[in-house]
Amino acid sequence: MSRPFADAAARLVKIGQRFDDRGWVLGTSGNFSTVVSDRPLRLAITASSVHKGELRAAHILQVDEAGRVIGRATRVPSAETLLHVEIVKRRGAGAVLHTHSVWGTILSGAGAHQNGIAIEGFEMLKGLGGVRTHEHREWIPIVDNDQDMTRLARAVGETLESEPTAHAFLLRRHGLYTWGATLADAERHVEILEFLFETIGRSATFGARTTEAHHGALENP
Ligand SMILES: [Zn+2]
Repeated sequence: MSRPFADAAARLVKIGQRFDDRGWVLGTSGNFSTVVSDRPLRLAITASSVHKGELRAAHILQVDEAGRVIGRATRVPSAETLLHVEIVKRRGAGAVLHTHSVWGTILSGAGAHQNGIAIEGFEMLKGLGGVRTHEHREWIPIVDNDQDMTRLARAVGETLESEPTAHAFLLRRHGLYTWGATLADAERHVEILEFLFETIGRSATFGARTTEAHHGALENP
C-alpha cells in the first residue's frame, strides 16, 4: 500500500465516523473518494455495502478511471464509483463526498418538477469555495435518480457542464454530492450544505417567513 493511499484511507475512515455521528450516512449509505494520483488517475474510494461508521482501512479500495479495482479485489467498490470519476474529471476535484441525510433527501424530492434549489442570503454560504458574501445565490441542481450508473454518470456530466459554478448537486430522493480541491474542502462543503439544507427544511416546516427562509425556499432558476 502506497503512502498517499494509506493516508487517504485513514482520512476517509475518519470522515465516515464523523458523518455517521451526524446521521448523514445511515445504513450503508453514502460513499467517499479522494484522488491519490492524477496521471494515471487513481482514486481511493469506499467499498460497497459497508457501514460508514464502521469503516476500516481495508474497506478503502483503489480504482482507476473506469472504476476498476487496482490490485487484489477483496471487495467491490461503491456502486456509484462512476459518478465520482465523472465529477473528478469534469471539475478537476481532489475529493468527492456523497451523503444521504434526511434534509438533503427531503429537499431533493420536494416538488417533482423542481430541477434544483436556490440558496441565498445565508452567512454559511461563505464556506463554499470562492464565495465571499452572504449575498451569493447558490443553485443546486437536482438530477433524477437512476439505477443505471452509466446513464446516471452521463446525466451528471451534462449537469456539471450546464451548471459550471455549482458546488454540488442532489440526486432526487437520494442524496447530496459535493466535491473540493482537497478532501478538507469537500468535507467543509458537506458540512456547509447539510447545515443549509436543515436550516431551509426546518424553516419551511415551521412556516418561518423570514427573508432568509424565503430566499432559501424552493424555486425555479
Ligand atoms: Zn447514494
